[in-house]
Amino acid sequence: MRISKRIENLPPYLFVEMSKKLAEKRAKGEDVVSLAIGDPDLPTPPHVIDRLCQASRDPANHRYPESEGLPEFRRAIAEWYEQRFGLDLDPDREVLPLIGSKEGIAHIALCFIDPGDIALVPDPAYPVYSMGTMFAGGETYYLPLTEENGFLPDLDTVPAEIARQAKVLWLNYPNKPTGAAAGLDFFERVVAFAREYDLAVCHDAPYTEVAFDGYQPVSFMQAPGSREVGVEFHSLSKSYNMTGWRVGMVVGNAQMVNALMRVKSNLDSGIPQAIQYAAIAALLGSRDCIEEHNAIYQRRRDLVVDTFNRIGLRARPPQASLYVWARTPEGCNSIDFATKLLDEAGVMVTPGVGYGKSGEGYIRASLTTPDDRLEEGLRRLEAWHASQANI
Ligand SMILES: *Cc1c(COP(=O)(O)O)cnc(C)c1O
Repeated sequence: MRISKRIENLPPYLFVEMSKKLAEKRAKGEDVVSLAIGDPDLPTPPHVIDRLCQASRDPANHRYPESEGLPEFRRAIAEWYEQRFGLDLDPDREVLPLIGSKEGIAHIALCFIDPGDIALVPDPAYPVYSMGTMFAGGETYYLPLTEENGFLPDLDTVPAEIARQAKVLWLNYPNKPTGAAAGLDFFERVVAFAREYDLAVCHDAPYTEVAFDGYQPVSFMQAPGSREVGVEFHSLSKSYNMTGWRVGMVVGNAQMVNALMRVKSNLDSGIPQAIQYAAIAALLGSRDCIEEHNAIYQRRRDLVVDTFNRIGLRARPPQASLYVWARTPEGCNSIDFATKLLDEAGVMVTPGVGYGKSGEGYIRASLTTPDDRLEEGLRRLEAWHASQANI
């Protein structure tokens, strides 16, 4: 048989060497603390699980769901957006549930990208934006995110002929992996840019609820005119510790939502209904669980940032997201440095270059490791640093 070019040409998985090393070490019985995983360690709140159990016993929920989701789930999403961001979304035209937002993020490329078309994608970024583009036959033009620009892309530096050819602009705030946040002024600039070059804006926003020190991230859909040019992907994964249940949504421009719906109705059969009912319970339930989770993440963030700065890894406390983005020591590339920490300290972090060229010179530590293991990892890093100083 002959595998397609699109599969054969998939770029090598950048973390493959490190994952192999980790597996070898664990097979030998070595204890490694992983700060590399971005998957909440805390459980889904009990009231959400209760609703899931109850709904799963109802035979009405054992049958095929509709691709466009339960009307009451779409209404709950609109209501949540109303309460959280003051927006009045039409639940039938401007809201679409997704089987986890990753699913929609990958598939929306099929709505805009024909072979040879260009998507503008930040660098570093979640790899799915460019992989979806590639699967649709398109090309990615990368927008570097630099510390000097607060990890916001400088839209003025995109060559006009590239911007004219491009059909999609991807953005993600609060940002993974840098932890950066964007304000409405930036999103207003994005709307103007999208109008000028006739771009579809796709804003990926799974971290708007994971924020610290009282900071309240904004939605792209709050920017005037945003509904004419774009959509926002959101997810219950990070806000409600529901990564395992696979439920997310896209909201915004009705034409874009409808195009994605048409793709999806030919590819999938929707989200299991019991999970949709659990998601409704999460969205319409108390926000106390979010506050509780954020207090835990904020304490971890402070521990990580303090330790990193003490051992010479320059890191600023992020206002939001589940990540600390820190500079590697001068002259040390991110893969070599992450490998060194794994070999010499028994701590795994993610090399920044895994998220794109502009991630070189950084490592990422995630805040989703249980407290005792995180504290153990940080003790190891301090001890490792002290041993370095003595060499
Ligand atoms: C976790 C994450 C997603 C995907 O979340 P789902 O579990 O698929 O809803 C999308 N984008 C970013 C930046 C993420 O970190």
